[in-house]
Amino acid sequence: MLQWQEAISKGNDICLVCSRREGVCIKCNYGHCQSAFHPTCGSSAGFFMNVRTIGGKIQHKAYCEKHSLVERTKAETQKHGTEEWNSLKKVRVELERLRLICERIIRREKLKYQRSLPWFISWPWVSF
Ligand SMILES: [Zn+2]
Ligand SMILES: [Zn+2]
Repeated sequence: MLQWQEAISKGNDICLVCSRREGVCIKCNYGHCQSAFHPTCGSSAGFFMNVRTIGGKIQHKAYCEKHSLVERTKAETQKHGTEEWNSLKKVRVELERLRLICERIIRREKLKYQRSLPWFISWPWVSF
């Protein structure tokens, strides 16, 4: 019990990878996951680590074995998703252009058709 309290006050967690309490461990960034590991252990174990600079500050995000898979897949689908979205937008623009062309053709054909009709058919109020 005393040992456990000591560990908390020191902020040292048992490393998930090497099972040692020495040094500073980083916690898994996923939700309330309590898994902790040394940054070096995590990287050598192939855990997913996301390091990016936000507003001049370096932000580390690391995930345990279980959540590495989740976060890596998410990051990849996000990247993939935007690419797919961009190509989809291009297709939509192309479709819209095609629709406008079609509409113009239809309107022109309609006009031609109306003009080619005998006058008594193109005038609907004329009864026979
Ligand atoms: Zn370790
Ligand atoms: Zn985790």
